[in-house]
Amino acid sequence: MDVAVDKLRAAIAHDQESATVWDDAVHNVRKGDKNWIDANLGLWMHSYFGHDGGFVLDPKDRPVFSSFQGSLIDNKEFDHLEPAVMPLVSALRFKLRQGVTDELNDRVLSLGVSDLTIFLGRPAVVSIKPIISDSGNIKQVPGEEYLHVAVRLLDGDVLRELADNYMLDGLRFSWTNDSSSKEASIALKTSAGDTLGFLSWRPYRPGSDVVYSMIPTLAAVFLIVMTVLSVLVIAVKRRSLKLVSSEVTIRHLAFHDTLTGLPNRLYFEEVLDREIRRVRNGASSLALLYLDLDRFKQVNDSLGHPAGDELIVQFASRLKLLTASGDIVARVGGDEFTIIAPTGSGQERVETLCMRVVDAMRTPFEINGAHVFVGVSVGVACAPQDGQGRVELTRKADIALYEAKTTGRGRFAIFDERMDSAIQRRRTVERDLREALRTGEQLEAFFQPVYSAADRKLAGVEALMRWIHPASGFIPPDVFIPIAEETGLIEKVGEVVLRQACATAAALGIETVAVNVSAIELRNPGFASRVAATLMAAGLQPSRLELEVTESAIIDISGSTQENITALRELGIEISIDDFGTGFSSLGRLQNLAVDRIKIDRSFITGFGGSGSDEAIVKAIVDLAQAVGLKTTAEGVETPLQEQRLREMGCDHLQGYLLGKPMRSADLEALVGNMELAKANSA
Ligand code: C2E
Ligand code: CA
Ligand code: CA
Repeated sequence: MDVAVDKLRAAIAHDQESATVWDDAVHNVRKGDKNWIDANLGLWMHSYFGHDGGFVLDPKDRPVFSSFQGSLIDNKEFDHLEPAVMPLVSALRFKLRQGVTDELNDRVLSLGVSDLTIFLGRPAVVSIKPIISDSGNIKQVPGEEYLHVAVRLLDGDVLRELADNYMLDGLRFSWTNDSSSKEASIALKTSAGDTLGFLSWRPYRPGSDVVYSMIPTLAAVFLIVMTVLSVLVIAVKRRSLKLVSSEVTIRHLAFHDTLTGLPNRLYFEEVLDREIRRVRNGASSLALLYLDLDRFKQVNDSLGHPAGDELIVQFASRLKLLTASGDIVARVGGDEFTIIAPTGSGQERVETLCMRVVDAMRTPFEINGAHVFVGVSVGVACAPQDGQGRVELTRKADIALYEAKTTGRGRFAIFDERMDSAIQRRRTVERDLREALRTGEQLEAFFQPVYSAADRKLAGVEALMRWIHPASGFIPPDVFIPIAEETGLIEKVGEVVLRQACATAAALGIETVAVNVSAIELRNPGFASRVAATLMAAGLQPSRLELEVTESAIIDISGSTQENITALRELGIEISIDDFGTGFSSLGRLQNLAVDRIKIDRSFITGFGGSGSDEAIVKAIVDLAQAVGLKTTAEGVETPLQEQRLREMGCDHLQGYLLGKPMRSADLEALVGNMELAKANSA
């Protein structure tokens, strides 16, 4: 566990260097360009690396920029950190003045200090790095650089990540150590030796005790590898690597990933530096591809880590088959890969390569007899045009990757100067959404009617969020929900829609109202009780509420998802699986899911009447669902033919533009009124 915390500290420092070792950063902090600083040193670090706090200190150690979880905050907030941070700042300035170099290597580009501390009453890692030039062209007085302070809280996501990586069950932080408890724990100590608190976990998880018993071994292996690495790095640096036969093996070990046999990050960085030097000499041009598996975490969570490893191995061998002999493929992180591809003949070659990679990863992987759909997103930056330094090129490939991921995944994006502004745009959306949530005026739930297939009677409605922006007009949920999820605003959005949905259902006497719930909301331990409170306030019986969750959310074993689902169902709230069929889980899983209804994704219904197998698939889903006692809804019903077929198949509910579009609650009221009128007339 200590090793894990150390690794985390190193990772945060490494994250920082993506922006602190950069000529632009030196210029812009000197200029005091708040927008630039926020975009690159605040928001970027938060949204991309999950850092919670970001601060910039001027050469006199005064905070000139402060942000917390992606938002600007008053520089006074830095006072909370000051007592813990100032000794670190002095230590760093001392090292900078002394010009210490023995900490630097291929992976650590600048001096730094880090420690554990308390921030806003929560345990945190704080890491400080100087803001320096990457080209070496900007001279600064050593010790008088601007400093970047990164803070990552040691709870929430971080603990979940650690728990996942080390398979620790129930990992949590506590201020005191309960020696009578059966839990295993370690003390978190600051470098001064003060105990901050404790990390504890349940020592034996049924079925995973083997892994648990391996942790000491794993930690030992990790230490050995790290030692070999640092020895090697020094050896390489001094150009005194005398080849003794065993060193060839050690070198291979140090530069290759043991799981896939591919070059690792260290090797990749060395090669990239070498290739960039050739580009600078005008001898070549290259493309740097960053690849990230799209649903790796879900596979790991639902099928287990050995399956995740198997997936990585298969992914790597597909990648090797796709690339040409001059391309360098490396594995640089858990599910992150890179390709360095020479681009002598022009950009087309890169695009073709990207397309082939994205296409090839769309085909499912067979793992333990199950078909697993993952997909990959790719970001590309090219040298010389996008940059002529490793750090800059990597940062731009990263931005392009982020773009590919946030615009739908399973696609590639080639870096473009406008993408820097895309990050700005997302930031604007975030700020405006905060404002919308504060005033509560621009967000309105619309309602789409759902009909019973047998008799076309209104069975209920689904609430769908609409954002009517005062300046930009209508912003579709597909745009703002993902940003709300990234920024943590989704919980507030969720509360708004739930409140409006319950109120409308109660007022209009709608039988059931369905509300979409994001995976992030479900992970919050307080979710179920908040829903119960909202129902109470609206006076709506729990049985009239249905919550729609996605397949991947419901099989997520991290966080409190399962407890929430159980608690909600015990209250009498129905749970349905949204977009069924688009996740990676198989039909066979259906019987194991603790849900009440499945909503068959619109993409299957669209294919009705065509030559594909969509009708057969839907029929199989409906039959199986009936067999295990689940209700079914078909989404996206647009034609009478689709309605007819679905009715024949025995699908329970139908929803789609043919029957009704999402509408304001006033229009829903009119619709309900008309129906009652018609009923009264026919009676
Ligand atoms: P969804 O839950 O699958 O919602 C159904 C989407 O399909 C809606 O798009 C709806 O307008 C659209 N639709 C309904 N019938 C038809 C049809 O016959 N043909 C076609 N082509 N489309 C149809 P919308 O409202 O744009 O919502 C998009 C997605 O945004 C939703 O997909 C849901 O995942 C998410 N979303 C919307 N409101 C919320 C919310 O309040 N909370 C959360 N977490 N997500 C929401
Ligand atoms: Ca839905
Ligand atoms: Ca859906």
